[in-house]
Amino acid sequence: MGSAGRRPDVPLDALGPGVCDVAVPDDQILQWGSPVLYERARAVEVFDDLLRAQATRLMRTLQAAGGAGLAATQVGSLRRMFAFRLSPEQPIDVIVNPRIRRRSDELSTFIEGCLSFNSVAVAVQRPHAVQVSGFDVDGNARELACEGFAASLVQHEIDHLDGILTLQRAEPAERYRAVTELLALGRDGALQTAA
Ligand SMILES: [Zn+2]
Repeated sequence: MGSAGRRPDVPLDALGPGVCDVAVPDDQILQWGSPVLYERARAVEVFDDLLRAQATRLMRTLQAAGGAGLAATQVGSLRRMFAFRLSPEQPIDVIVNPRIRRRSDELSTFIEGCLSFNSVAVAVQRPHAVQVSGFDVDGNARELACEGFAASLVQHEIDHLDGILTLQRAEPAERYRAVTELLALGRDGALQTAA
């Protein structure tokens, strides 16, 4: 693990209309404090080779980082897409333009880690079960029915696509503790190598 310590400063639309990516090296994940993480990602309209290449990169980066989920936002691509693994036995998958169609009234609290917060995790309460619709990288419709940890994971990733981080969902005391830990780590706004 190493930190390159550089802040991406490329304007979001610098690469042309419809391409809203900032320059982030291939194996790196944006860390908290990076302004891109607070941006709302845009819906994918074209299911092309570029999208498929970005999805592959996202899955590889998640694999290398050993996490359960990674949103495109976290690698500097503001497209509504995230890579995930609902359990350690399952292969990494990608969903595009995910949308929560149904939430349970029952709530659950999970300790959520985040690849943009290094090892600092916070307790977050969310609906216990959700039904999510979206698309695969070829534009075919798909549905995910998730509960427990899996539901917490997909809600966490969809939050990333809306520019919301776990710290904003945590109770004030929990947020204070996490920020104190993060400041001690001193990685605000830096890039983190996935492996
Ligand atoms: Zn995260």
